[in-house]
Amino acid sequence: MSAERAAAHRRIAALRAELRHHDYLYYVAAAPEISDEQYDRLLRELRDLEQAWPDLVTPDSPTQRVGERPLEGFAHVTHAIPMLSIDNTYSPGELREFDARVRKALGDRPFEYVVDPKIDGVAVSLRYEDGRLVLGATRGDGTTGDDITANLRTIRSVPLALHGRGWPRILEVRGEVYWPRPAFERFNAARRAAGEEPFKNPRNGAAGTLKQLDARLVAGRGLAFQAHGLGVLEPPLPDVTTQTELFARLREWGIPVSPHLRTFRDIDRLLAFVEEWDAQRRGLDYDTDGLVIKVNELVLRAVLGTTARSPRWCIAYKYAAEQAETTLLSVDYQVGKLGTITPVANLAPVELAGTTVKRASLHNFDQVRRLDLHIGDTVTVEKAGEIIPQVVAVDPARRPPDARPIAPPPRCPACDGEVAQDEGGVYLRCINPECRAQLVERLRFFCARDQMDVEGVGEQLAEKLVAAGLVRTYADLYRLKDRFDELVRLEFAPADAGRKAVELGEVRARKLLAGIEVSRTRPLARLLAALNIRHVGATTAELLAEHFGSLEALAAADEAALQQVEGVGPEVAASVRQFFTSSGGRHILAELRAVGLDPRQARRAAPASGPLVGKTVVVTGTLARYTRAEVEALIKAHGGKPSGSVSRKTDFLVAGAEAGSKLDKARALGVRVLSESEFEALLQSE
Ligand SMILES: [Zn+2]
Repeated sequence: MSAERAAAHRRIAALRAELRHHDYLYYVAAAPEISDEQYDRLLRELRDLEQAWPDLVTPDSPTQRVGERPLEGFAHVTHAIPMLSIDNTYSPGELREFDARVRKALGDRPFEYVVDPKIDGVAVSLRYEDGRLVLGATRGDGTTGDDITANLRTIRSVPLALHGRGWPRILEVRGEVYWPRPAFERFNAARRAAGEEPFKNPRNGAAGTLKQLDARLVAGRGLAFQAHGLGVLEPPLPDVTTQTELFARLREWGIPVSPHLRTFRDIDRLLAFVEEWDAQRRGLDYDTDGLVIKVNELVLRAVLGTTARSPRWCIAYKYAAEQAETTLLSVDYQVGKLGTITPVANLAPVELAGTTVKRASLHNFDQVRRLDLHIGDTVTVEKAGEIIPQVVAVDPARRPPDARPIAPPPRCPACDGEVAQDEGGVYLRCINPECRAQLVERLRFFCARDQMDVEGVGEQLAEKLVAAGLVRTYADLYRLKDRFDELVRLEFAPADAGRKAVELGEVRARKLLAGIEVSRTRPLARLLAALNIRHVGATTAELLAEHFGSLEALAAADEAALQQVEGVGPEVAASVRQFFTSSGGRHILAELRAVGLDPRQARRAAPASGPLVGKTVVVTGTLARYTRAEVEALIKAHGGKPSGSVSRKTDFLVAGAEAGSKLDKARALGVRVLSESEFEALLQSE
C-alpha cells in the first residue's frame, strides 16, 4: 500500500511540474510544445490520481484552479500600495510635453523610456507569499478593491505557484485581465445560439466575468492575464534597477509580461514607434487602445514621485478614437459646481466603440461657434476609452434648410440668473451665488468618496435635498437630523413609468444621517478639498492642512504666508485667499463652525511616546517609497522633527539611494544611519 502511495506521489509531482511547464510555454514563452488535447490528457491523469489519493491534493495543483462553491460576496481588500491610475495623452504634442516635464525634473541624469502596449482590460493585483498565490484583488477605487482570488485562480496564465527561484517572500504583481478576441467571439457565439444577449466588447465582458460569485462560470471563458507593474516587494530586489530587468525576472517566475516591450532614449524615435504601432496593434488577438510610456530606471521613478492620482514617471498614449456619424437633435445645458454652463448634444442613437451613444459633450460655446453647429446637422462623434463622447466635426454640405443655429442662453437655464463670459470668453458662467444647479453639483462633490465620503448623495438625492429646501449650505447637511420627518418623506420618481413615486423612508433616512455624522471625522485635508476652492485638489489640500492645522489659521493666512507652503504658488495662494476673504467663503466657514465642523490636522498634539518623539531626523538621497514631502510628513506625524542639515544634534539620518555628503558627515559624527526599510521598521516598533 505504501509503495503504491509513494508511486502515486511521484507521478502527481511529475504531472504537476509538466503541466506548469506547459502553462509557462503557452502563456509566457508563447511557444507551446503540445496540443490542447495532450494537455487535457495530462490534466485528466492528474485529476484521476488526486481523486484516488485525496490527501495528496495541494491548493497550488493545476487541478485546483476552480472552486466548488459560489461565494456569498466579495471581501474588501486594502492595497498596501495604492493602485494609481495613469494620465492619458492623445497627441504627439502632449507626449512631448510629458517628455519635457520628465527631463526638467531629472536634470542631466541619463534615463530611457520603456514602452508597453496598453491592454484594454481590467486592472488587478496578485499577491504571492513564499511563491504561492494567496490573494487576487480588483483595483477598486485604487485604495480598496474586491477579493476575487477564486476567479483569478481559474485563469490559466496566472501561476498558482511561481516557477524557478529567487522570488521575494512577498511579491505583488499588478496587471490587466483581458479577454482574447478568439475566446470572446466563441463565448458570444454560444450566447447568441442560446438566445442570450452577447457582451458588447471584450473589456466589458471581462469586467462582468470577474464579478461572478461562482468561479466555475469564470473558468470556461478563457480570460488571460498580463503583468505591467509591481506593488509590495519584500525584501526588495537590490540588483534589479529597471523595469526591463524586473520583467525578465517575472518571466522567469512564470508571470506573463508583454512580449512587445521596447526602450527608447530619444523622444523622436519613441514618437516614430507610436505611429508605427498604430498599424501593428490591430494584428494582436486582444484590444489595445494605446501605449504606456514609463521611465525605465526604478530609482528615477522615486525621484519623479506621484501626484495624488497618478505617477509622474508614466503616461499613456491613446490612439485616435473611433468615430461615427449621426444627427444632432437638440442641445441641453448643464450647470456645473462653479457655475460653468456646458452645452450637451442630444443625438440620434448611434453605435460607437461597443456602446450606444445618445449624448455627447460640446464643452463650451466657443467650440459650438468654431464648429458652426446647427440643430439638425450631421455631426461626427468620437469616443476614446472611458472618455465621454464628443462632437468633433460637422458636415455643412448636409445641413437641412430648416436647421437652426445654437445661441448661448441669455440667462442661466437652471435658475434664470445672470450669466457672464469667463476670462478669455471660452466659458459661460452663471454668477448667481444661490443658483440651485450649482448647489446640487457642489453638494454632490462635497459628499463624494474622495471628499467627505457620505454614501448615497448622488445627483438624485442632492437634487431633492436642494429642491425641498432642506439643504442650502454644506452645514445644512449636519442639521438634517432636526428635519427627520421631512427627510423621510422626500419623494423620488419611480423607476418604471406608471408606478407610484417612492419616499426616501425611515431606513434610508437613518442610514444617510449616520453617514453624515461619520463624515464629521474626516480630516481637515478632506474638508478643504470638499469646499471646492479653485486650484485646491487633494494634494494641495493635504499640504495646506499639514501646514496650517486648522481652517481658522488657514483663513487668517495672507498670500505671502500661503506661499510658504511647499507646492503653493501665487495662483493657488490668490485663489485660497480669495475664497477665505469673500463673503461667500466666510459664510461657509461660519456655518461649518456653527454645526461643530472644525477639524484639526498635523498640529494636533504629537504622539507622547515613540521612537521619533523629540528626535531630529535628516533624510538624504532618494527613497523608493516616499517623496521628500511624504517622508517629512511621516516624521512629523510620529512626533519627530525633520531637518535639512546634519549636525551633532541629529538623532537619525535616513539614507536613500545616491546619498552623498550628508551620509559621510553623519558617519563622521557618529549619527545613527537608517536605510529606508530600517526607518519603516523603527516606525512600526512603537
Ligand atoms: Zn444658475
